[in-house]
Amino acid sequence: MAGAVTLGLWPLRAAAPSTLYVAFWFDTEDYLLPASDDAAKRLAEMFARRHARATFKVVGEKARVLAARGRTDVIAALAGQTIGFHGNFHSVHPTPAEYSRDLAWHEGVQEFLRREGPGFESVTTVFGVKPACYGQPGSSWTPESYAALRQWGVPVYLDVTDQVRLRDQPFWYGGVLNVLDLGDAVLRTGWSDAEVARACARFDRLHDRLLAAGGGLVSVFYHPCEFIHQRFWDAVNFAKGANPPRAAWQPPPVKTAAESERAFHAFETFLDHIIQQPNTKLVTARELPTLYRDGAYARAWDGDDVRALARAFQRAVSFARLGSAGDWVSAEEGLELLAQAAVSRPSGATTPAFHPRFAFGPASRAEQYLRRGQLSGPGLVAAAGEFLAVLRRTGQMPSVIWVDGQPLRPEDFAATLGAFVERGLADPSSARPVDLVPGSLAAAQYVADDSPQLWGWVIFPEGFHAPRLMELAKLQAWTLKPAALAPVVAR
Ligand SMILES: [Zn+2]
Repeated sequence: MAGAVTLGLWPLRAAAPSTLYVAFWFDTEDYLLPASDDAAKRLAEMFARRHARATFKVVGEKARVLAARGRTDVIAALAGQTIGFHGNFHSVHPTPAEYSRDLAWHEGVQEFLRREGPGFESVTTVFGVKPACYGQPGSSWTPESYAALRQWGVPVYLDVTDQVRLRDQPFWYGGVLNVLDLGDAVLRTGWSDAEVARACARFDRLHDRLLAAGGGLVSVFYHPCEFIHQRFWDAVNFAKGANPPRAAWQPPPVKTAAESERAFHAFETFLDHIIQQPNTKLVTARELPTLYRDGAYARAWDGDDVRALARAFQRAVSFARLGSAGDWVSAEEGLELLAQAAVSRPSGATTPAFHPRFAFGPASRAEQYLRRGQLSGPGLVAAAGEFLAVLRRTGQMPSVIWVDGQPLRPEDFAATLGAFVERGLADPSSARPVDLVPGSLAAAQYVADDSPQLWGWVIFPEGFHAPRLMELAKLQAWTLKPAALAPVVAR
């Protein structure tokens, strides 16, 4: 959608031409083959020559190996691009989803920090810059990684994976901007002339379609090692749970020099084709947060917004688009606004203004013990106050909310508080009890169910499953909402 900008009361259509943003990113991970160091440098220089930038997501051990090999030339070339983080050892078992599989939320956060933190430090130290993004090794995604990213101050999750997928668009989840599976806006080319021609034609169709729709984002990803190897370095050593000692690690088979040249040439042709298209701009993970602002925190929400949420939550608890500017709030932010409105209700003389802050979804899934009954107005107001106090104290939603001594799941609390607040806005004097409204966290539908396809990476032991991890991931759907491309305003 073309952005509609609101100035005062007048919604103006953005007058500037829309832009197609293209994020090129390279998972820079192979620390076995020295030739992959040169491949990374060559790709970085390819972008630098065009005064363009890509994102290089570097593995911690890769950064350490580059330093140990004295490859200051490679480090300098990559540092001239945008640096991201891609895990500490990438494929040495256990990988993040393996070690988090059966952990509770807080354990999973601590274990991610303990195991991946040294890699984050290595990349930061070697390149002299804090990584602009993270993306998991293979499909070894975990919800707890988001809490670590918030601690590290990393605002972007850049990868392609299907654990959370929102209409093939960028989204907010876990308090981080996610650019994951963008559907057909994830583009790659093979190495033959025919494949390059097909990929360029696909880009052209995408270019026209997305620009006609007001702009968009295309994601193009490679691994520097793909340009020089025949098989992935980790498939050779760590497939199906194999975990040989370091001394037994084998380098992967390599392409011939001619095959490798053909790969670089194919990629360069594809890159030049994209760069030359009108209204097309290359972006890196460093720039993505300025393209996708989160409007929920910068503004005050009012009684009309709260009324709309109160109605919506009685039907389904999910993210919502509110206000004249059409900013999105997550289900968590929506519940926070409702709770603020409930608490402020008795002193409604001035026009109230509400401000959410980010909080994680609950750490545990609660049972639905209470399915029907009535709750008192004072009990709901007190519970709303307690809910806000927990958010302030822990930065995370409580797993259970107690109203009149009864345990409610957050989604039931959200729907019931919606009914209470809607009635209170219409009739502030009403002291009648409120019927419990069973709620459902509709936003959780965008988080995948556990399935073999989610964990199809060659590294995982055969039959790998992570149902508990995906249950925690669904609880974090409270934080999910679309990320809208900030409108471009002609000046
Ligand atoms: Zn990788």
